[in-house]
Amino acid sequence: MTGTSWVIRGARPLDAEPADITITDETITAIGDGVGQKGAQELDAAGLIALPGLVDLHTHLREPGREDAETIETGTLAAALGGFTAVHAMANTDPVADTAGVTEQIWRLGRAAGHCDVQPVGAVTVGLAGSRLAEFGAMAESAARVRVFSDDGRCVSDAVLMRRALEYVKAFGGVIAQHAQEPRLTEGAQMNEGAASGRLGLAGWPAVAEEAIIARDCLLAAHVGSALHICHVSTAGSVEIIRWAKSKGWRVTAEVTPHHLLLTDDLVASYDPVYKVNPPLRTAADVAALREGLADGTIDCVATDHAPHPVEDKETEWAVAAFGMTGLETALRVVQQAMVDTGLLGWAQVADRMSARPAAIGRLPGQGQPLAPGSPANLVLYDPAASSAVDPATHASRSRNSPFAGLTLPGQVVATFLRGRATVLDGKPA
Ligand SMILES: [Zn+2]
Repeated sequence: MTGTSWVIRGARPLDAEPADITITDETITAIGDGVGQKGAQELDAAGLIALPGLVDLHTHLREPGREDAETIETGTLAAALGGFTAVHAMANTDPVADTAGVTEQIWRLGRAAGHCDVQPVGAVTVGLAGSRLAEFGAMAESAARVRVFSDDGRCVSDAVLMRRALEYVKAFGGVIAQHAQEPRLTEGAQMNEGAASGRLGLAGWPAVAEEAIIARDCLLAAHVGSALHICHVSTAGSVEIIRWAKSKGWRVTAEVTPHHLLLTDDLVASYDPVYKVNPPLRTAADVAALREGLADGTIDCVATDHAPHPVEDKETEWAVAAFGMTGLETALRVVQQAMVDTGLLGWAQVADRMSARPAAIGRLPGQGQPLAPGSPANLVLYDPAASSAVDPATHASRSRNSPFAGLTLPGQVVATFLRGRATVLDGKPA
């Protein structure tokens, strides 16, 4: 209990008519004409859109092990500034999050930081080594209540292991999140395989390396009747396969990153490693198919794949630079640019793709709830009329590897509330 109440004046919930949102302690208690509440703090939100707090299914917080790139403190503050009230922390830390102990440690550090909920993702295989399944049951029963398992960064390429993992999570309603990358087809790969890779003389990463794993895993999920989530879909062919799998009624969900919705492999011509990412930036035709897939619901949600790296790992030669981009602080703005300002999604659908559905896929009770009386007061106030150039030097993330640096994007997160407590006010940490 915080003991603090708020009346948020004149916000537009999901872009509807202006209304006052009353928060009492941790809960939304009224939406409509806000009666003044004794002792309540008032916030003038005229012109701002109110959305449920965003939920990220795919965040690399780097702690434990790479605190030079990010910590749970800096990463979750970046998340709050981006409008998130919950993030799923990927398992490729050091030590790997493959035991109840490590996942509980990450969960507790998230609670202590207090900027947003941190839900640890458990590793599929011990040490991400791809040979033995980790102890899902112990992680599921721990205080961290792990439900999503992923070797993200590496593909579970062994079909028998993937089958067993899908069978294992059925016992407690979990899901396997696959990083779809056929390893033999991508040995030494540096960028999307296509016209641009030929011109630049960089080893290509064929679309089929992603699509073949997605097709196989959809078939496996159907065969064992389990739940599969596909991380960072990046090709038009992948969207087609997922559309087909969903048409069969199979339990397959998928995410797309903000950068794959906006950027193309033409940018690699600069040889600037800020554009080096896994999976790679693809073609304009792929971007169009990803946008269409997100709009029609084939792709369930947007997930950032926020992947912070220190300067020395990124500002180097292309071939040796690390894969990955930051994304928490720009995600909603990129989605506005790519999806809303293009007429592909309304704000109610943005709330679905960035809050309700990722919360459902992540099995997170208390997140992704509608803006309605009785819901936990997790929400973001956003100014869609704002516009500014992205400057990573101003970001709360410890790393600076944003591919949107210098780009003018619409929008500004003005305030974020986590269970009735402001984590961001006036666009700054509260
Ligand atoms: Zn990945």
